[in-house]
Amino acid sequence: MARTRLVAGNWKMHGSRAANQALLDALLKGGAAGRKSECAVCVPYPYLEQVSGLLRGSAIAWGAQNVSEHAKGAYTGEVSAAMLAEFGCRFVLVGHSERRQIYGESDAQVAAKFGAALQAGLTPILCVGETLEEREAARTEQVVARQLDAVTKATPLAGAVVAYEPVWAIGTGRNATPEQAQEVHAFLRQRTGGETRILYGGSVKPQNAAAIFAMPDVDGGLIGGASIVAEDFLAICKAALGAAGG
Ligand code: PEP
Repeated sequence: MARTRLVAGNWKMHGSRAANQALLDALLKGGAAGRKSECAVCVPYPYLEQVSGLLRGSAIAWGAQNVSEHAKGAYTGEVSAAMLAEFGCRFVLVGHSERRQIYGESDAQVAAKFGAALQAGLTPILCVGETLEEREAARTEQVVARQLDAVTKATPLAGAVVAYEPVWAIGTGRNATPEQAQEVHAFLRQRTGGETRILYGGSVKPQNAAAIFAMPDVDGGLIGGASIVAEDFLAICKAALGAAGG
């Protein structure tokens, strides 16, 4: 089945108005997206207005990195899915390992966020992945299945995107090998069905992107550090375009 590829950048807590403008200008000029491969940037909340202004009408979509599970109310500091939709977001990350590990988000909370995003018409990018300790204990499949099932038992995937992000590969410079990624993607594929896009994330760089994207169950990437370096992110988007055949 031909699934449209997707390369999504996760800017994390990086950016400034000037840096965002320069980065997006370069991506717009560089041809980051094509017919068979989409491109998106997931940016810090305060920049959504600026980013939507710069990208509206272009081939590059945008989104956020987190969302509240609540629709509205006394939740100081939180941002609802409807608010993100008002800023034209198409995507939102849910369950990123930094949210799970640093902010203690549980599987149940991630599932609620996922449901809230879908309800507001956003496409959630559900992040799953094991720690090094879990991998070494041969628990990778058990962990990603638990994280995925927590969501799917509450809400069908319905066009959402899944990102396999081994925690030991995020921001470490140590990517999963293409074969390691494919093994977990194939396992996830059995549970998601053929239509769901499954991205790989974890130290994707211009040097390793093509080999990872060539794997049959890898439908693109979720890119952290390299997504804020225009030249690198463009090269990764081009690798996805190459793997998609245009
Ligand atoms: C991420 O933050 O989702 C990520 C994959 O980071 P990096 O590419 O820097 O490993």
